[in-house]
Amino acid sequence: MERTLSIIKPDGVAKNVIGDVIRRFETKGIKIAAMKMLQLTKTQAQGFYAVHKERPFFNSLTDFMTSGPIVVMVLEGEDVIAENRELMGATNFKDAKEGTIRKDYATDIEKNVVHGSDAPETAAFEIKYFFNDLEIQKR
Ligand code: ATP
Ligand code: MG
Repeated sequence: MERTLSIIKPDGVAKNVIGDVIRRFETKGIKIAAMKMLQLTKTQAQGFYAVHKERPFFNSLTDFMTSGPIVVMVLEGEDVIAENRELMGATNFKDAKEGTIRKDYATDIEKNVVHGSDAPETAAFEIKYFFNDLEIQKR
């Protein structure tokens, strides 16, 4: 069993697709082990995306991520890191495959609706960034 962090970004919440994104996870048999809605401060967004701090889009990305509420979830399942990335589609929606979340809803390389951890190490860091142990359901 593996865990990953999923975020429905401010554009996804604004587009009213929270339910559709969650439905895609549940249809695949992925379990939601934790979930909450919150709005990040600039400092919190910078901490979350610290790996990207040298990238030219860092300031714009962290502004975008603070621009409205987000939904943060811990997803659980076999191979869920890769499976979630598959459901999300490519970072740039123009390269995303048919039927992926980003193909269906993203409008911009930055405003791409969802985030998903890309490896076990980043998943562990990202889950701890948002949830303490008591907030994650054990089964
Ligand atoms: P995420 O980490 O959000 O799941 P990702 O792993 O597909 O997405 P990263 O390369 O980690 O993509 O980039 C993190 C986020 O930064 C992207 O999801 C996107 O919102 C933004 N981003 C990435 N590349 C660019 C770019 N060239 N211009 C603007 N924003 C970008
Ligand atoms: Mg990433």
